[in-house]
This record gives sequence, structure tokens and C-alpha cells, in this order.
Amino acid sequence: MNYFEPLSDVIDDRSVRQVHELIENSRQILITAHLSPDGDALGASLGLYHFLKSKKKNVKLMVPNSFPYFLKWMAGSDEILVYEYNPKAARVIFDHTDLIFSIDYNIPKRVGNMAFLLEKSDAKKVLIDHHLFPGDIYDVVISYPRISSTSELVFRLLYQADKYEEIDKTVAECIYCGMMTDTGGFTFNSNNPEIYLIISLLLRKGIDKDRIYSLVYNNLTEDRFRLLGFTLSQRMKVYPDLHTALIWLSLEDQKQFSYNKGDTEGFVNYPLSIKNIIFSAFIREDEELVKLSFRSQNTFPTNEFAARFFDGGGHLNASGGEFYGTLEEAVSFFENGIGLYAEKLKNEIN
Ligand code: 5GP
Ligand code: MN
Repeated sequence: MNYFEPLSDVIDDRSVRQVHELIENSRQILITAHLSPDGDALGASLGLYHFLKSKKKNVKLMVPNSFPYFLKWMAGSDEILVYEYNPKAARVIFDHTDLIFSIDYNIPKRVGNMAFLLEKSDAKKVLIDHHLFPGDIYDVVISYPRISSTSELVFRLLYQADKYEEIDKTVAECIYCGMMTDTGGFTFNSNNPEIYLIISLLLRKGIDKDRIYSLVYNNLTEDRFRLLGFTLSQRMKVYPDLHTALIWLSLEDQKQFSYNKGDTEGFVNYPLSIKNIIFSAFIREDEELVKLSFRSQNTFPTNEFAARFFDGGGHLNASGGEFYGTLEEAVSFFENGIGLYAEKLKNEIN
């Protein structure tokens, strides 16, 4: 028996060809990623960015707003343009672009205030994403929700076009970071054997995966570490019958621990460590809205829950949404929601 299986062609050949032709024929490329970009959004975007730069293409990378400190080690992160900091300059860049990539998001709304620039642009548009329901503004759609990260799709896009040899260590590091963060360090959504084949191919580029893990996960500030302890001990409610746990933080709580953007990233995963908890929610009060994050185990559809109650979406086991009202209202709306899903939640564990 032959244990070595080559990587399968996940992306359809036509799309691979089309994207590489568009790249070839473009003079100015703009890569965009979603609001509050996470490790996958940045890893996939920066991986593609460095690859295109190595091919001497003119390329820029723009995100709607800032990103967390534990992703700033990635090469090129200081070259990322942040729309919010200079919307006027962003307009000019969109006007001078003939190819736009939408990375790790499905529809323009996910780039917030930047959306109108994307929608009205005459540039060719390519979507590379793994969320459900891709938008209809794209010339090429590479959308595979069963693939665990967009970074993996960027790798496949290059690999399938026979460009593996042209991937350098910097590109490999960014792609690895995205694959790692969207699977919680390969602890969920990560049973596809091909993921490990890709990791092996990335390791051959000289990346230090243990160092990348530490840079992302063992990089907490003291304030953030104490905030985590406080949240779990003082701001958690468990609903044992519904196999659900909720954590929340008010603006006041965040102020007390000198909250910075990204400080609560990953908090929502912790309640899943409790035996028999399969649904975890994190509700964080923000200046103008209340932000919600959901995680689940097994088959509880957090994305359906997010869409139904909080105008949100995402993946089956990881999603988010928004609420316009007070923190208390958001909590009671959430409790009402899990009440309506009681049967489903109870049936997740028999
Ligand atoms: P997180 O909880 O890490 O902020 O988000 C997890 C996933 O949920 C993201 O990858 C994204 O797909 C999705 N998500 C988070 N917030 C929203 C939202 O407000 N709207 C939609 N449609 N998806 C969201
Ligand atoms: Mn992603």
C-alpha cells in the first residue's frame, strides 16, 4: 500500500488558470481582507502579497481597521494600509487598481466602510474564501467552505499552478500562521489529512512552526492574562442543561484591564474546556455596539444561531454577530435564543 498521496486538486482548474492570467495581465493589484482581520485573513493576504511581490508585481494590501498585536510579527505587517486611518488615500488606491482580491470574506459588507469602494470599482475581482454564500460581484470565485482556512486555499492556488518551487520562507510563514490560527493550533476543524501534507510542504521551506506558535499564543501581556482570569472567574455563566456557557465583558471591565484591540481574541474558546459544554458565547460591549462570538463542538450550528438572532454568520463551529442595544439586553436576547434551541442543544450530548 502506498501511504503517500499527493495533494488533491481542490480548486477547479479553470479558476486557477483565470486567477494566474488576471495576475499576469494586471498592473496594480490590491489585496483586501475583512474587518478586524484575524490570523487567517492576514496570513492568507500577506502570503499572497509576498508571493506577488517576489514576482515583481505592484501590489498593495488594505484592511478596514487595525489588527491585534500578536499578528504584528508577520513580515510586511507594517506595510499594510488601514482604511480607517486614511479613507481619502484609500479611494485613490482603489481608483488606480485593476485587480482586487477579497480574502477570507464572502461579501462586501464584511469590509465595513470600505465596502462602497469595492462595489463601485471597475477592477477585476477575485474572491478567495471559505465562508458560505459568496457574493455576486466577483469575476472569479474560489470559495470552499469545507476547507479550514483561506490560507490553505492560497497555498493550493499556488501549488496547483505548479508554483510550489517559487514559494519562499516568508510566504510559507504567513500561510502557516493562517492555517494554524483558523484551527486553534490544529485543535478543531483540522481532521483533513491534506492539512498535514501541506504543513510538511511548508516546513520544507524552512519555517519554524514552534516559533510561530509561540509568537501567536505565548505572547500575552500581563494585563491580558489577568483579564482572562477575571473573565473566567467573574464573568461566566453556565447553563448545564443546555450544555452552554456564556462569558461577557462590559466596557468598564475592559477599561479596568487597559483593554487593547485583540486582547480578548480566543477567550470564547475557553468555556469549551468544561466537560459537557458544547456551545460557548462571548459577549463584549463595544463603544457603539455589542459584539458577539460563538464557538461550538459537534454539530451545533453557531452560524445559523448568529444569523437568526445577531445579524451575523460564519462557520458551523465558529461564528459571530452584532447587537445594537445594551449589554444586558444582548445577554437576555442570547438567553432567549438558547431557550429556543434547547432541544437541539440537549440532543448534542446524550
Ligand atoms: P470571531 O469570533 O473570531 O470574531 O469570528 C469567528 C468567525 O465568525 C469569523 O471568521 C467570521 O467568519 C465570523 N464572524 C464574526 N463576526 C461576524 C459578523 O458580525 N458577521 C458575520 N457575517 N460573520 C462574522
Ligand atoms: Mn478564515
